[in-house]
Parts: sequence; C-alpha cells; structure tokens
Amino acid sequence: MEEGLTEKKAILLRGGAVQLPPGFQVPFRISRSTAGPGAGKRSIVFMFHGLRVKKAIVQEEAEFQLIVGDDGYILHRHGLPFLDEVEIGPVVFHSPEQAFFNLDQRCMYHCLYCNSPLLDVNATKGLTKEKIVQMTKEAMLSMPVLSLSVTSGVYGSVQETVERMADCVRHVRQEIPDMIIGVEPYVQVREQIELLHQAGADEIKINLESPDPEIFRIVCPDLDHGLIWRMLEDAVDVFGPGKVASNIIYGMGETDQSLLQTVERLASMGVAAGLRMLTLNETNRPYLESALGKMEPPSVERMTRLAREHKRILQDYGLDPRSYRTMCFACTCCDLVPFRDL
Ligand code: SF4
Ligand code: SF4
Repeated sequence: MEEGLTEKKAILLRGGAVQLPPGFQVPFRISRSTAGPGAGKRSIVFMFHGLRVKKAIVQEEAEFQLIVGDDGYILHRHGLPFLDEVEIGPVVFHSPEQAFFNLDQRCMYHCLYCNSPLLDVNATKGLTKEKIVQMTKEAMLSMPVLSLSVTSGVYGSVQETVERMADCVRHVRQEIPDMIIGVEPYVQVREQIELLHQAGADEIKINLESPDPEIFRIVCPDLDHGLIWRMLEDAVDVFGPGKVASNIIYGMGETDQSLLQTVERLASMGVAAGLRMLTLNETNRPYLESALGKMEPPSVERMTRLAREHKRILQDYGLDPRSYRTMCFACTCCDLVPFRDL
C-alpha cells in the first residue's frame, strides 16, 4: 500500500465534510444514514487507491473540496491538493456492495453519542421485511450485492426487537437463499442469539461500545457492560470464532492500554473488535461534554498507532477482518480496518 494512505484516511475520518463543486450532480444515489457515525447526514463513498471512506457532503465551504479534474476527481483540503485518483462509489443501501438496513431508528435507550433516536425524520418507518427483500432484489439487478445486514434501535423491548430482526432474517434467507446475512442486535440472553442464528444469520456484531466500564456506565447508562461480555461469549459458542465482531468506540477518555487489552481479550475469545473513532457533532457534543468534559477527536497519530496495534493483536490470534462478509468489516468506510487499510 502506498505510504501515507492510512494517514490520509485517518485525516478524512476525523475531518469535516466535503464541499461539492457548484451544480455537481452526484453520479449515484446519496446515502442518508439512520445509524452509524453519519446518521442523519447526506453522504457519499469516496474510493482512493483501494481504500474507501464515507463522507458527509455539503454545498457550502468545508474542510475538503471535491475537484473535477481532467482525469477524474481530486480532493483538496483547505484549498490545497490532498488526494488524487479519487472515485465516487455506489452504495447498495447505506454501504458499498452491501444492503445494510436499520429496522428501527427509534430506541428506548439513551447512549450519549448516538444520533439515531434523535433524528427528526423517521426514515425507517414502513421498512418491512417484504420491502427489504424487494429493495435488495431490485438493487441486485444493477449492482453486486455481496451481503445483507440488519441493525435496529431497541424499541418496545429487547425481546420484541430481536424477534423482529429474526423474522426479517428468516424472510431474507427464504427469498434470497444464498445471501450472506449479518445482524447487529442488542441481546440480553443466549436464546436471542440462538434465535438469530437459527433464522439464518451468518455473522453477528454485539457492540461493547467502550473498553472502560466506568466510561461505559456514563455514556450507555441503560446498557450492561458485564452482560455484553457474556453475550459475546455465547455468540462465539453459537456462531463460531471469527463470525463475531464487536465495535469499540474510542476517544471518550479511555487509555490506549485499556483499549488494547480489551481488543486482546476479545481476540482471545474469537471476537474481532472494530475500533471506531468517536464522531462528535452538534447533536451529541453537548451531552458528551456535559458528562465527560471538553472533548477533542483523537489525533491522526493515535488513530494510526492504535490501528497498527489492533492489526498485530488480530494477527496473533488468527483473526482477519477480510474474512468477515458483512457489516463494518466488509464496508470499511468509517474506520481504519487492519489488513484493509494498513
Ligand atoms: S442501544 Fe444505544 S447505540 Fe444502540 S441505537 Fe440505542 S441509543 Fe443508539
Ligand atoms: S463502516 Fe459500518 S457504520 Fe460505517 S458506513 Fe459502513 S456499515 Fe455503516
């Protein structure tokens, strides 16, 4: 990989939006995510030298500028050339080559960094299992759809949310039998993991959110850190090692040591952690700063150093994000992913 590309991706991940040239027509459908770091924003996927990143796009002045050059697209940063040979990539739904659906953006929990329940439009309203299959089949006519994933806010109860997710997975498995399916639930008992597996899910992501139990208690006041660890163990039993992933958000005051020890503990269980830099925005910043104090995004140096350590740990335990077919490891748009980006 060309030297410096990992750093450039880190700069893009922690940086601001991309300003489009006046009158620019985006060649693909614009994604308006209801989950993940870009929730609520209009964004597109930029690809460069084999890497990809999803960025919010705006018309007004911003940190990055898209330039239409004679030989394709170029990205400038603060008015100076930053990246050449940039392409704009299609998303299936939310993610490139993947149909990723949020079954319900509403959530009865209150994680301080999470924008999904605060979006003013209910973008997931009317998203039935039948519609998901229909939309995916239509997309498959015009582009590769390598996998399908489902996430959901917790609405009603955990059990009801998992049952809705399992019902959706069962329907997709029945209607598109060869589809690789990933699920990202909040679960409280082993039976819920078994239900999703029996319904036909191939991979599962159960998010630990923070490596630090004290920070977790503050930012995810309704969730149970110890329970998530137990659910991850059960998930490996049910889905198998290398089929379970877990997002860890960093940039909330945790130490590198606690982060890397957690990555290692997960890896020793057969779980590949995904390291997600905290995305601060006008919606979540007031909540986070009133709970944790003034916050700044992690430096590029910290991001790349952690990514290198992350890669080393996964390698030591025989885990490789490239073997995962669904969700964030297959997408790679929001993180520095070992073996894909470095
Ligand atoms: S459980 Fe927390 S992170 Fe997940 S959707 Fe609900 S509020 Fe957001
Ligand atoms: S990396 Fe994950 S959260 Fe980000 S766009 Fe891809 S699937 Fe969504």
